[in-house]
Amino acid sequence: MSQAGLPTTRDAARELVVLFARRLLAEHLVSYTAGNISTRIADEPDLVAVTPASTAYDTLTAEDVVMVRLDGTVVEGSRRPTSELPLHTLVYLDRPDIGGIVHTHSRAAMAVAAMGIDVPPILHGLVSACGGGITTAPYARGGTAEVATYTAEALRHRSACLLRNHGVLAVGPTLEHAYNAASTVEGVCDAYLRALAFGPVPEIPADDVERIRREQWAPAWASAGDGRTHGG
Ligand SMILES: [Zn+2]
Repeated sequence: MSQAGLPTTRDAARELVVLFARRLLAEHLVSYTAGNISTRIADEPDLVAVTPASTAYDTLTAEDVVMVRLDGTVVEGSRRPTSELPLHTLVYLDRPDIGGIVHTHSRAAMAVAAMGIDVPPILHGLVSACGGGITTAPYARGGTAEVATYTAEALRHRSACLLRNHGVLAVGPTLEHAYNAASTVEGVCDAYLRALAFGPVPEIPADDVERIRREQWAPAWASAGDGRTHGG
């Protein structure tokens, strides 16, 4: 695999992880050491660059980023990878088309994940960034086969899902696509919780959801290499 838009060297992958880790912090999508992100590296399909365990994002450096094989073996780096590494590796093993993963414990999304409800296609940005309304995968203990099964189902034809009682799992052909999805999910969950105070929240008509998927989400996934963002 030499997927468009993926970093071409291990050093570039480390820098990319640091860049998006800083953005997570700046956008308040994570607190302290919570959450984690990873990217594949072009031409090294069995390798991912991932954030280390227990490291505050404001002090994270490229040297802290760990290179890990999809079987969990650390290839480079003096730090331990995130304890949530299987959340990443199981998705990458299942989906060769996925090049980047962002996992957050962002606040509004956690409230929705705690309730175990789905987020219907209530806002344009959710459909263009994630491919439609998103579901909450059932609770399962970290690193188990159940997590892999549940998340694989929840991520089918979508760029994100919620993890019951936990947080957000966003994916994409690139780390940038996954980041955009994670950021959008938090904003939409926040809006959804506010809107629910007024009663049932109207959904975008199915025809329009399909059109937005076809015209915006699908091309964004397919053309990940050209640096475009989507959803606004
Ligand atoms: Zn987590």
